[in-house]
Amino acid sequence: MDVNQYIAGQWQKLDGREALPLLNPANGLEIAKVPVATTADLDLALSAAADALPGWRRTSPIERGSYLRRAASLIRERQEEIAQLLTLEQGKIIADARAEVLAAADLLDWFAEEARRSYGRLMPSRAPGWRQSVIQEPVGIVAAFSPWNFPATAPMRKIAGSLAAGCTCIIKPSEETPLTAQALTQALHDSGLPRGVLNVVYGVPSMISTYLLDSPEVRKLSFTGPTSVGKHLGELAAKRSIRTTMELGGHAPVLVFDDVDVDAVAELAARNKYRNAGQVCVSPTRFYVQESAFDRFTEKFTETARALTIGDGSNETVQMGPLANDRRITTMERLITQATDSGAKLALGGARIKNAGFFWQPSILTDVSDDAAAMNEEPFGPLAVISPFENTDQAIEKANRLSYGLAAYAFTKDADRIVQIGDEVEAGAIGLNTYAIISAETPFGGLKDSGHGSEGGIEGLQSYLATKFVSQSPA
Ligand code: NAD
Repeated sequence: MDVNQYIAGQWQKLDGREALPLLNPANGLEIAKVPVATTADLDLALSAAADALPGWRRTSPIERGSYLRRAASLIRERQEEIAQLLTLEQGKIIADARAEVLAAADLLDWFAEEARRSYGRLMPSRAPGWRQSVIQEPVGIVAAFSPWNFPATAPMRKIAGSLAAGCTCIIKPSEETPLTAQALTQALHDSGLPRGVLNVVYGVPSMISTYLLDSPEVRKLSFTGPTSVGKHLGELAAKRSIRTTMELGGHAPVLVFDDVDVDAVAELAARNKYRNAGQVCVSPTRFYVQESAFDRFTEKFTETARALTIGDGSNETVQMGPLANDRRITTMERLITQATDSGAKLALGGARIKNAGFFWQPSILTDVSDDAAAMNEEPFGPLAVISPFENTDQAIEKANRLSYGLAAYAFTKDADRIVQIGDEVEAGAIGLNTYAIISAETPFGGLKDSGHGSEGGIEGLQSYLATKFVSQSPA
């Protein structure tokens, strides 16, 4: 299988460039080589994006949307083929890969539609005869970086939003999931997208981000990934006053009160925890359960997790695939060992599954102290921590104790408590009696160290638009 960069409307083959191995996480075997961009590749991408910008930003939003819609239809037609590639390179179960491919098509449709509504406004003036208008215009060239955990939707939020707004884009999808990005790019290419509007490169992330963020042409950075990297890229962007959208890490709390159907809530919780083997920035991780429901919740959660079928995600009967890379295995080992060494109890799992590939048992810790790394550091893997609480105020205090503020969830029937949690929990997205918090039409982004700005929703389009005020005196 070939992985090619896409620059100035052309597929660039490996052609003697350095290459990185692409592994199948279900067996650890190499499936392709990923080209490493040279500075000449990046210069070509920058000049292609710059050359395409004047024409693309003048194209009407309706016409821009027509390319995106065509690509969305092609992606739906190619759903199965793309989903198979996604599972092959990332490991998630095929049903989730299929759903993710459709969600990527949905993003294109949403942004194609929403771009028609990038309205400005006319403001009443203080004196007669004046005309004061506010215009929304594309910010310019976007440098985008997307991670490996959602190989279709993570790059597509950035591509669809920036292109719909009239920006041109240079994206570096993860080197660990380029086949999905390549298939999505092929659909955009086949839609007739003008050359240079979208450019896709791979390589050494720090080299590419430093180079692009030091280029005067780039006006916007959109990054999804760890908080540490986001802060570093934020510093680089600040040097050139580049706008940023940062979707960073999380450590989502789940508050479970004793007025709910505890068995049903515990089962739903376990199913969501181990989705994508826990490698989700909004993955529920710190489960705080009211004391009287704690034992029952833990028992049912453990029973549900223990029954999950683990294996190669391309097998239709499998319910949890491998971790995406061996770095996740190392992190699981470290977090669990450190917690149990300092007194935590392992209710389930805690070990690698000894076959080829990067498999880890669904794992559950109880009695974990607040100082343990597992309580503070994003596990980004199949690890749940379950702790008791006494009352609503204490639960909210526990939810808010970390510097992360991405997602939070609560399960209760009490209407007043629902309002209090919505008001007082510090997270960019809060699910009340649900884990459904992300869709194309709703804004998604974090508070505190989880980042700033939104992807998706009207806000996701606005993040690629600059506001200009034009004041005109009477002739
Ligand atoms: P990593 O540091 O190797 O890389 C994480 C991501 O950041 C990759 O996509 C990588 O290409 C990118 N990256 C790293 N340095 C960069 C740089 N200087 N410039 C541009 N991009 C850069 O970490 P990892 O092992 O892949 O993941 C570890 C942690 O990352 C996880 O524990 C999780 O907290 C976080 N993560 C978050 C998300 C998210 O959706 N917010 C996604 C993936 C990973």
